[in-house]
Amino acid sequence: MTTDLPRGTASAPRLGGAALLSDEAMIRAAIDAAAAADGRDVPVGAVVFDADGRELARAANAREATGDPTAHAEVLALRAAAQVMGDGWRLEGATLAVTLEPCTMCAGALVLARVGKLVFGAWEPKTGAVGSLWDVVRDRRLNHRPQVRGVVLESECAALLDDFFKSQRP
Ligand SMILES: [Zn+2]
Repeated sequence: MTTDLPRGTASAPRLGGAALLSDEAMIRAAIDAAAAADGRDVPVGAVVFDADGRELARAANAREATGDPTAHAEVLALRAAAQVMGDGWRLEGATLAVTLEPCTMCAGALVLARVGKLVFGAWEPKTGAVGSLWDVVRDRRLNHRPQVRGVVLESECAALLDDFFKSQRP
């Protein structure tokens, strides 16, 4: 990867700047991350990028694999990203991309982490907390509200889940 190009130039590396890293590209990375899920775990993937568009951490849902009820992809990726970013627990300016609309726990976690932006793929009508059942990330009573963009590559993200649940049926 070249590093001598000024930021924002058209020939800069694909992952070289947030402006050049599209929401779609970030969701593609999250789709890749989902592939690491254990066969028993619902394949949800999450990736955290810093303000310059550099990938800090990625994770797949690992609730079954770890026996940990909090091991959702978003929580695992946020934890790992904070270690890499090295600014304590804060992930200011970071973007979290996830294949599925976050639940209440994950929406709460990304607000608490001060994530700057959330991008998600498919809706989760049963547990979603970014508009489906609740809207935790845009609740005006909270002192931090990330930017949100939903339904990015929705059909690809939904297909991951459809394929998984089809494979679970006898
Ligand atoms: Zn969650």
